[in-house]
Amino acid sequence: MNCLYLHIPFCRKKCSYCSFNSYADFDSLHPRYRRALSTEISTGPELEGPLETIFVGGGTPTVLNFEDLAALLGACREKYGFDADAEVSIEANPESVDYQILSVLRGEGFNRLSIGIQSLHDNELNTVGRVHDGAMAKKAVIEAGRAGFKNLSIDLMYGLPGQSAKSWHETLQGALELGPRHLSAYQLSIEEDTPFHRMVEEGDLLMPAEDLVVEMDKITRKLSAHAGLQQYEISNFAQPGYECRHNLNYWRNGEYMGYGAGAVSFVGGVRDKRVADPLDYCQAVEQGGELIVEKEALSTIDSYKETVVMGLRLNSGISESRLERRYGLDLREVYGASLDDLVDRGLILYDGVHLVLTETGRRFANQVMAELV
Ligand code: SF4
Repeated sequence: MNCLYLHIPFCRKKCSYCSFNSYADFDSLHPRYRRALSTEISTGPELEGPLETIFVGGGTPTVLNFEDLAALLGACREKYGFDADAEVSIEANPESVDYQILSVLRGEGFNRLSIGIQSLHDNELNTVGRVHDGAMAKKAVIEAGRAGFKNLSIDLMYGLPGQSAKSWHETLQGALELGPRHLSAYQLSIEEDTPFHRMVEEGDLLMPAEDLVVEMDKITRKLSAHAGLQQYEISNFAQPGYECRHNLNYWRNGEYMGYGAGAVSFVGGVRDKRVADPLDYCQAVEQGGELIVEKEALSTIDSYKETVVMGLRLNSGISESRLERRYGLDLREVYGASLDDLVDRGLILYDGVHLVLTETGRRFANQVMAELV
């Protein structure tokens, strides 16, 4: 598949849990960054055939003005062309969109919108450092629908400090009542070098107990299924036909190109990462300097294992015959007794054809995957 990711590393404010490559208070750099990103697009490698998925993510892409976003999409279209059925996604946060902006984005060719709501409870949003409140979140989703975004995804988070099963149920129910075709529900994880990490270390943040998180996870699957959204990945649910094609390509360990500060490309078995700092990125593009700060050529066995680990995130799992066709390696030879061990512990189902995580395996997905890399 021809898949392109564009990274917009700016946000209005940095959330307390966020370890993404995003920066607040960098507004004066926005036009320069847009120009640099357009240059990277127009001078990028050629592709055979048009783009099938484009994903503009961040950060919060919609902190750029809509003229800049339209110009970026135009640069992609001019360089590569879009498949007639291309999925063109953009991420947004409620505080950075309104009906007019959304209508322009839809008119420019974005046809999938992912809105970061996280919670509908103002106290929880405040705790995690979000800019918006619950009312703004609902309004943004409704206006996105009015602006013509049929393929709309809502991002939520559970396992928040102080969150109860009841408040998660209310957020989820409220979000599903807005009728999204797609839902991403992520468990909050505490990442290093974030304010939340420091607070946890110092005992200043009360995280929900493990059994409460498990209950929230069950609520997620139950309410989503009831709303007609089928789980297709550990944290993702969709109406049939509305699964995110761009992300499916990642989970299938397919090739993709990534442009922008900190963006990663994976082409021809080589993964390369661009400089993360947006100012350094602009300077490197403007001066024709070195953009790539990390380059890794994956060995066949490393790529094989990555494909297994990523594919296990999907409810459809991994087809052993596909693995064998792609790599010419035998599953049992690669994993030996460790595979049997995971099956015996009830974490993986393996019927000789497919490999999938069990329900318990999904709960302990990180540990399972650590044993398979
Ligand atoms: S809006 Fe998203 S990318 Fe921006 S700081 Fe918050 S979590 Fe990070």
